[in-house]
Amino acid sequence: VTRTNLTIDSDRLWATLMETAEIGGTPKGGINRLTLTEEDRRVRDWFAQTVREAGLELGIDQMGTMYATRPGRDPSRKPIAMGSHLDTQPTGGKFDGVLGVLAGLEVLRTLNGAGIETEAPITLVNWTNEEGARFAPGMVASGVYAGEVDQAWAMERQDRDGVRFGDALDAIGYRGTEPVGERRFGAMVELHIEQGPILELEGKTIGVVTAAKGSIWADCRVLGRESHAGSTPMNVRRDALMAFAEFALASETVAPQNGPDGVATIGVVEALPASRNTIPGEVRFTLDYRHPDAEALDRMTRGIDEAASAIGSARRVDIQIERIWNKPPIAFDEQVCRAVETSAAELGLSHRTITSGAGHDAVLTASVVPTAMIFVPCKDGISHNEAESATKEDCAAGANVLLRTVLHLAG
Ligand SMILES: [Zn+2]
Repeated sequence: VTRTNLTIDSDRLWATLMETAEIGGTPKGGINRLTLTEEDRRVRDWFAQTVREAGLELGIDQMGTMYATRPGRDPSRKPIAMGSHLDTQPTGGKFDGVLGVLAGLEVLRTLNGAGIETEAPITLVNWTNEEGARFAPGMVASGVYAGEVDQAWAMERQDRDGVRFGDALDAIGYRGTEPVGERRFGAMVELHIEQGPILELEGKTIGVVTAAKGSIWADCRVLGRESHAGSTPMNVRRDALMAFAEFALASETVAPQNGPDGVATIGVVEALPASRNTIPGEVRFTLDYRHPDAEALDRMTRGIDEAASAIGSARRVDIQIERIWNKPPIAFDEQVCRAVETSAAELGLSHRTITSGAGHDAVLTASVVPTAMIFVPCKDGISHNEAESATKEDCAAGANVLLRTVLHLAG
């Protein structure tokens, strides 16, 4: 076997995906494996045992992130990292995150089987709490790793039952001793399902992810005036809900004005006082908008603010937008992207460049490690859903691109 025809074992990869999917498996075929729960402990135990059986050296940092390393010929070189996350949403699918970790395992097993030595070591990473479903925010371990999140603050996050992150980590026995961020990598590659419909719609197998959208989250309020639903004429009302409705439609217009990559979402709405015969005096809602281009994201901000002030004055209400989260767009590393693209081309796989609309651990590590991502299609673009589905062939194609990319980078 030479490097030019080395490929992963797609049956073994698929069997591993299906075997671990039973840990927290749901009747509808998904996975419920919230971070730092008993299910998470079981999949971590499985991972630890499996990587040790593969002869890898396992390290665990203080955030519980797991690092399995295959040595290289040149120990002075920084390891090439690959990985993703084994935690899921409460009604998650079998592939979100899991594919990136298990494909990395398959890459290492393939190198072992072929007896291939790389120059740089290769490290497989299982990042803690990517999803943020139990402890908000998500991507917290990679955030601490990248120096963007304070570790002590992360340890104090609480779940809905008031359990602290640090205590949950101790309870499953995965608080490691290694200082977070001490391990530095030469590069990091994350394979992930697209979680959107573009690759499938275009019939492409591989997405070379060149950038990730910046995202802004806001907590918003419309302040109008409560009054009687029967006796207040329409022309004197200051109806917060109707103003909200107009603003919601305006936000839907602002996004496509800035190209197909602009998106805006209002996910939570609450009208008060929530009485059928009182005109709503207040509406509270969330706004999430994203764009891969920083200037376009700024234009969206201006468009949203202009809409709020115009609708507010026309309807004599106050529309307040408090921005609570601002993650600028990031560009992935050109050289690592090129290694992904070259690998896809060498394998004869159809591919295109693509931007990530979702957050990923790779988006965080990108600020401290040369990073890129590989996307494969998922059925109907559906993710964060028990019906999430990807084909065995696409998973294998992604793993083969990962294998080649890592070989290009590790030498
Ligand atoms: Zn994910």
